[in-house]
Amino acid sequence: MASLEVRGLVAGYGPVRALRDVSLEVPDGAVVAVLGGNGAGKSTLLRAISRTLGFHRGAVTGGSVHLDGRPVHRLSAARMVAAGVVQVPEGRQVFARMTVADNLRAGALGAPGGRREAAEALARVHVLFPVLAERARQRAGLLSGGEQQMLALGRALMARPRVLLLDEPSLGLAPLMAARIAEAVQEINEAGTSVLLVEQNAALALRLASTAYVLEVGEVALSGTADSLAASDEVRRRYLGVV
Ligand code: ATP
Repeated sequence: MASLEVRGLVAGYGPVRALRDVSLEVPDGAVVAVLGGNGAGKSTLLRAISRTLGFHRGAVTGGSVHLDGRPVHRLSAARMVAAGVVQVPEGRQVFARMTVADNLRAGALGAPGGRREAAEALARVHVLFPVLAERARQRAGLLSGGEQQMLALGRALMARPRVLLLDEPSLGLAPLMAARIAEAVQEINEAGTSVLLVEQNAALALRLASTAYVLEVGEVALSGTADSLAASDEVRRRYLGVV
């Protein structure tokens, strides 16, 4: 587990300013949610933290990120993974033509530790998602959406993260499968990984998280405990569909 502190993050894509002065905190061992509508900057925030924004032609132009008090905002994306901050991208992004087993193996590349640690991580992933053991030799592209989300989570766990960055894990999933994924996220957290969870499904996110932030056009519009946000009229109206 680890804590993550984001201070005054500014980021964008060329002339598009996607994040303006965003600050938030993921305390050691917490699940923290980021809510917001389309284009609010949620994915950009995770990419800025994981140092993968450059792969999307974006750049961080200000602010800082500290992991357990240590500055990490100048690390490469690979070093960020080695430091323990691992992102599960929106849309799963599994390697469709590779087998499930090879997808998981790929997740261990660049992670700290050797073969023994990778074997232990794989055993934990198989306990969490038995279907990934059953389908080990199948191509990832043949899995259902929910199973692909499990694989994306499993692949990230192979890097033995201390902080997991989750981008819309419930997107496109039937309610039952979304609930199964939420349960897995809770188990991952209880087993010792801090989680920063980006979700459009505010109800699900507020059930999982202890604190939450609402992002609107690149800025934190609201923040507080998950309970206080779930009770707020504005959040209920805009994000929980309560009229
Ligand atoms: P969504 O839920 O739709 O993914 P989001 O809250 O994750 O939304 P971002 O994807 O971070 O929002 O987008 C924030 C802003 O940056 C939007 O105005 C979006 O159009 C813009 N943007 C995102 N990716 C790019 C890109 N690769 N190039 C240019 N602009 C981008």
